[in-house]
Order: sequence, then structure tokens, then C-alpha cells
Amino acid sequence: MSPRHHPSDDILTAYTSGALEPGFGLVVGAHVEGCAHCRARVGAFEAASGAALEALPQAEVGVDALANVMGRLNEQAPIARTDARPFVERLSTKPKKWLAPGVWVAGVNTPHAPQNRVYLLSVASGGLTARHEHSGAEFCTVLKGAYRDELGVFAAGDFAAAEADLNHQPVVHGDETCLCLFATEGRLRPQGWLGKLAFRYADV
Ligand SMILES: [Zn+2]
Repeated sequence: MSPRHHPSDDILTAYTSGALEPGFGLVVGAHVEGCAHCRARVGAFEAASGAALEALPQAEVGVDALANVMGRLNEQAPIARTDARPFVERLSTKPKKWLAPGVWVAGVNTPHAPQNRVYLLSVASGGLTARHEHSGAEFCTVLKGAYRDELGVFAAGDFAAAEADLNHQPVVHGDETCLCLFATEGRLRPQGWLGKLAFRYADV
């Protein structure tokens, strides 16, 4: 099934231009890879920024300028996918830390700012989740299973960006274990013992 929750155009534009923090870009990439809709958006943003860059140095725009631009764009090789494994299996992670029955967290080895966290969180159906509030950004892409919160149901492939001041407690939706990739800014304030543990062990 196609994802129903997508990054905003602002986020996709920042992703396309490489302006996102690497961990946050990784979470967006996890969604884009499996979402034809967002791949098309990213392609359009790339073409638009490429055309803008090409147009800048031209003192005179000749009649064939557009043809030149389009020709160069077409020369660009598509993004190589040399590794056909599922996204989650291509991640380099720290060892799993079990927090509670059915709940584990694993930090992801990716360059990111030291105050940020990039991690996988797996919660079995019926498992505990951590109520937390945000004072910084949190990006999440669901890799397996589904969860629901006040904003709706988020299934495999869906993307969620939590705004500051959101205080929510997601719960696993359905019978399948829910596996999510998170990037959070360091100002996230976990509440309760499980949230504090998850935050500490995701410290990479
Ligand atoms: Zn999408």
C-alpha cells in the first residue's frame, strides 16, 4: 500500500538540497525510497534547482538554453542502488538494547550533531510506549507494522514530523511489531522511566 503520510514540501526541498541534518535526511530518505509520490516531488525539485543553477551564469539566454539545460539534466545518472536489501538491513546500527519485554532500541551509525539522536525503536504489539513531549523536531519513518496517535494511524512507509510542543503517546496499531526509524533533536524531553531509558540508550 502506498504511504499516506508524507513530508511537507519544505522538508522535501531541504532534503533535495542537502540542507537537512544527516540523521534527519536519513529518515526522509527511508520514506522517499518507498514512496513514488515523493520520489516524483524530489525529482521535480532537483530539475528546478538544476535549471536555476544553469540559468545563473548565462549573460545571454539563447534560444537553445532550455534544450542545453534539459540535455545536461538527462545526462545525470540516476541514483545508483547497488545494494538491493531492504532499507532497514542497509543501516549500520549499534547492538539492540532491550528496554522492556517486546521493546528494543538501537542507535544508528550515521554522522549527526552530537545533541541529536538517530535510532531504531521496535515495539511489539501491546508493548509499552513512551509518552514524551517535544521542544525540538522529531522525524520518524515507519519501517514495519503501524502505530497510531492523536494524529491518526501511521503504517509502514509513512512519515511523521513532530512539531515542538507536541505531547503524545503513540501505541502499536494491529498485531504486528512496529519498527520505526527516528531522528530527534536533543531537546526532546522524555517522560517516565521507559522514555528516559530509550533516550539514554539511543545516545550514540
Ligand atoms: Zn511520500
